[in-house]
Amino acid sequence: MIGWLRARSPLRPVWRIWSKWLIAPRCLFCNQAADLGDLDLCSDCLISLPWAESFNGESIAVFRAGIKSLSIQVPLWYAPPIDAALRDLKFHGDLAPARVFGAVLAARAAIAGDLPDLIVPVPLHRGRLHERGYNQAAQLARSTADWLGRPCAPRLLERRRATVPQTSLDAPARRRNLVGAFVLGADAGRWLRDRPALAFRRLALVDDVLTTGATLAAAAEALGSLGSLSIWAVARPMSSSFTSPVTPG
Ligand SMILES: [Zn+2]
Repeated sequence: MIGWLRARSPLRPVWRIWSKWLIAPRCLFCNQAADLGDLDLCSDCLISLPWAESFNGESIAVFRAGIKSLSIQVPLWYAPPIDAALRDLKFHGDLAPARVFGAVLAARAAIAGDLPDLIVPVPLHRGRLHERGYNQAAQLARSTADWLGRPCAPRLLERRRATVPQTSLDAPARRRNLVGAFVLGADAGRWLRDRPALAFRRLALVDDVLTTGATLAAAAEALGSLGSLSIWAVARPMSSSFTSPVTPG
């Protein structure tokens, strides 16, 4: 992964000249000088992050039949220092973690050969988007798309009704909370019209955290008719109940 990140993020020429004095990238986690090209991350911290093992095939069975072939990339545990960085991204307006985690997701997907034609964030309802000012999943999706050189479609999906925050609910209530919450958005028609080759190709659906999988499953179901899906999230809790059967209905 270090090699992939360095190859993809050479220091821009102006940085080569000025970086030692002014704008050298600093590591998001230890604030020391970064050594992964243009990325705000150092290789020592990258190595010591709480890496999670890959999902096995059993996890994939949690999604409803009808969604075409599915792969899941969730590279990290929701544990220090990932949890604090994701909270900063989601609640405190700090967008720097999106670039670092987008790079990590991109590197993991590229190394796994899991390369989509289009990258789609899990949307926020417009009320919450207005309140927060940005969608953290869209920030992650854009960053991942930049690193992979793939297009991002932040409005392909739409959250058509506000839902109670998932963190306040148990797993069955989370699934009920999300029934019918996602639909194809206004941009879906344009994408399919302008890029018809995308139909029945591969999409990657991006969120920040995968807990029970209910949100991603509901969003995946809305996207399911468009093509095969990869599910990407930055992290999952160590106590995640994701391996138990999860269906959005
Ligand atoms: Zn560091």
